[in-house]
Amino acid sequence: MQNIGKNLNRIHAQIAQAAEACQRDPKTILLLAVSKQKPASDIRVAYELGQKHFGENYLQEALQKMQELSDLDICWHFIGAIQSNKTRSIAEAFDWAHCIDRVKIARRLSEQRPAGKPPLNVCIQVNIDHEESKAGIELDAVVELAASIHELPGIRLRGLMTIPAPRPTFDQQRLAFAQLAETLATLKQQGIDCDTLSMGMTQDMDAAIAEGSTLVRIGTAIFGERT
Ligand SMILES: *Cc1c(COP(=O)(O)O)cnc(C)c1O
Repeated sequence: MQNIGKNLNRIHAQIAQAAEACQRDPKTILLLAVSKQKPASDIRVAYELGQKHFGENYLQEALQKMQELSDLDICWHFIGAIQSNKTRSIAEAFDWAHCIDRVKIARRLSEQRPAGKPPLNVCIQVNIDHEESKAGIELDAVVELAASIHELPGIRLRGLMTIPAPRPTFDQQRLAFAQLAETLATLKQQGIDCDTLSMGMTQDMDAAIAEGSTLVRIGTAIFGERT
C-alpha cells in the first residue's frame, strides 16, 4: 500500500513521456485508477495524493466503497458490463459508464438518472477483436447506436471505449486503437459531439496514447496485482 504514491508518480511520468513522444499535451489524458478488488483504504490513499477518478467493475463492491468514502469528492466510473437490473443503481451512484452496447441499457440509464444530477457520461464499448468473451458492439454498428442514444436527456455520449485482445508489439497495439480513433472521427463528422477515447490499460497504455486516447484505465500498475 505504501507503493501507491510511487506507482502514481511513475504512471504520470509514463503518460507524460508517451504524450511527448507524439506531441500531445499530457493534460489531455485523464488517468482513471481502476480500484476493483482493492479496499476503500487504497482508494483513500490515492485520493489524498490527488487522484480523483476511480473505476469499478462490480456494482455491490463499488456501492459499499462509495459509502465508506462518501466524505471524498470522487468521480466514479462504472467500467463493467451493465445488466438491466443494475441500471438504476448505476444511474444514481456513478458519474460515468464506459460499457454501453445496447440502446435498451442507454434508455434505462437516461430514464433513471436522478433529476438533480448532470447527465451520466457514457461511452459505447466496441468489441474490436470480435471476442465472444467480451462485451461491446462491432465497429460498423457504432454510428447507428450513437445516433440513437446521443440525444437521450439523462445521459451524455462522450465517446468510445475498447479492450483489445493482447498484442505482442507496440505497432500491433496501435493498429487496434487506430480503428477506434477513426470511428470517433466519423461520429464527429456526422455531427455527434464526442470527445473521449477510453482506451489503454497497464499493458498497452503507450500505444493507446499514441492513437489519441483521452482516458487510460490503469489498475495493476497503481494498486498492484489482483488476487
Ligand atoms: C480491470 C480493468 C482495467 C485495469 O486493468 P489493469 O490491467 O489492472 O490495468 C481497465 N479497464 C477495464 C474495463 C477493466 O476491467
